[in-house]
Amino acid sequence: MQKKIAVLPGDGIGKEIVAGTVQVMQTIAEQFNHQFEFEYGCIGGEAIDVDGNPLPEETVSLCKNSDAILLGAVGGPKWDNNPPALRPEAGLLAIRKKMGLFANLRPVQAIPSLADASTLKKEVIDGVDLMIVRELTGGIYFGTPRERRIENGKELVVDTLSYTNEEIERIIRKAFDLAMIRRKKVTSVDKANVLESSRVWREIANNVAKDYPEVELEHMLVDNAAMQLIRNPKQFDVIVTENMFGDILSDEASMLTGSLGMLASASLSADGPGLYEPVHGSAPDIAGQNKANPLATILSAAMMLKYSFNLIEEGNTIEEAVNQVLEQGYRTADIADGAKYVLTTTEMVEQVIRQIKEIA
Ligand code: ATP
Ligand code: MG
Repeated sequence: MQKKIAVLPGDGIGKEIVAGTVQVMQTIAEQFNHQFEFEYGCIGGEAIDVDGNPLPEETVSLCKNSDAILLGAVGGPKWDNNPPALRPEAGLLAIRKKMGLFANLRPVQAIPSLADASTLKKEVIDGVDLMIVRELTGGIYFGTPRERRIENGKELVVDTLSYTNEEIERIIRKAFDLAMIRRKKVTSVDKANVLESSRVWREIANNVAKDYPEVELEHMLVDNAAMQLIRNPKQFDVIVTENMFGDILSDEASMLTGSLGMLASASLSADGPGLYEPVHGSAPDIAGQNKANPLATILSAAMMLKYSFNLIEEGNTIEEAVNQVLEQGYRTADIADGAKYVLTTTEMVEQVIRQIKEIA
């Protein structure tokens, strides 16, 4: 298979973790006889310095002409006092918008060898394997009116939660598609006892479910879902929900199983390239020291192989290699707690590559 990947390392540790991840992908290409072509673009603080724009036009067209996008992280203290349009984070928001990325996927998986990193009991964590699918383009973040006004002599402030049927249906379909290659269960999270938008959300979910007879659909109120994620996270396979509920639940869920340095994410569009990035930021405090944990980015690349290229075995091979390297006791500093070997970024990458070659 031949694929072109836009690589946007960004700022801080972005460069280090992306460099290692590209090497891992090259190893997969060699082992499985694929051609991956990597083309580099600028985003974030570096792009502001070079181009005066956190998302240069050149980067947008590179992304549009690629099959998928691999992103490191953006931001750093150097740009913290810039005006909003010239902050590195503006580049990230702009690329999401320009690429029509409407579905944010965050997998949460228990890693047995890191179980001690969780604040929950081992028996609650063991076996957790869930995916949160968050709607990214609608909901209360973007609805209008959004204003302060005077009504009947009183100050009033308004935010608006709005969705079109199409927006709801496409995210729910995405969740069912994902469930089909997982354990075939979808939990649709809403607040249908209060919100009209949630009642429509439920109706649409029930309709979409008719097209997926193999997939079990359940509805859950968001307050209950927040509780169940801590009480019994193993019950979940795919959780699908609107923008703000998803924002909150995905941060909650991401802390179930441990370190920021391990958490991957994907953002998908209808038929354009998906964007894959670690959940963590640019970690300016450790940038340039070859200390960052590259595994979140490597696991994001595994998601790319599975969800953009349908290379399921290849993606699983990366995930398995990461698990085995951890099992063997290798750790970067952020997850080192009592570890046998504390590795640099580049050494961790080498271990993952060694393990991939052993598996493949
Ligand atoms: P952002 O605002 O960009 O989302 P943040 O400032 O909230 O990010 P990070 O940049 O993710 O946070 O860093 C938070 C802490 O976690 C820092 O101390 C950082 O060093 C650490 N950290 C983040 N990612 C990694 C990683 N991959 N490896 C090791 N440590 C990390
Ligand atoms: Mg930050």
